[in-house]
Amino acid sequence: MPTTEACNDDDGLWQAGWYRFAKALRSPNFGPRPEGAQTDLVVLHSISLPPGEYGGDAVQRLFTNQLDWDAHPYFQSIRGLEVSSHFYVRRNGELWQFVSCDDRAWHAGVSSWRGRDNCNDDSIGIELEGLEGQPFDEPQYETLASLCAAVAQHYAIAYIAGHEHIAPGRKQDPGNGFDWRLLREQLGWDPQMFPAQIAQR
Ligand SMILES: [Zn+2]
Repeated sequence: MPTTEACNDDDGLWQAGWYRFAKALRSPNFGPRPEGAQTDLVVLHSISLPPGEYGGDAVQRLFTNQLDWDAHPYFQSIRGLEVSSHFYVRRNGELWQFVSCDDRAWHAGVSSWRGRDNCNDDSIGIELEGLEGQPFDEPQYETLASLCAAVAQHYAIAYIAGHEHIAPGRKQDPGNGFDWRLLREQLGWDPQMFPAQIAQR
């Protein structure tokens, strides 16, 4: 491999915001980050479609606008929804990526954190296959921890929070079943990077 191709955007793990160890499936649901945006926040979510059913491909279909809205009664409630996340971690730890981390994915909606609104502008969204209030599986924590570490190597991450923290009252994911203390231990990050109520756990 010619070393002249190396640049600061390609450190072996990342290429133009795409993570080497994720299965890439491009979503059309994204846009540029605002000029000057400093991507310093990781937002954790949970999702499953239909809720509580794992192992299918409905989430990938949703994030690529390929979901058959008539395939399940629940899908009627989200018909026409155009969303995405940067990453999706399946129950077995399998990792997918839909949007370059250099771009703005559509996962947070109306939100505010560390004194800044519109968290989509300057955050990286990670969806965990699951259901809010339910526990997550061990392989998911392993993938999540290594992903967060890789993200923090490439972006100046200073904060990590759940959707429930950045959109309180409107969102409840990933919920009480998510083990923040385990993730904190796995990452070894400063407790001040986490929501205060989690740093104290
Ligand atoms: Zn969410």
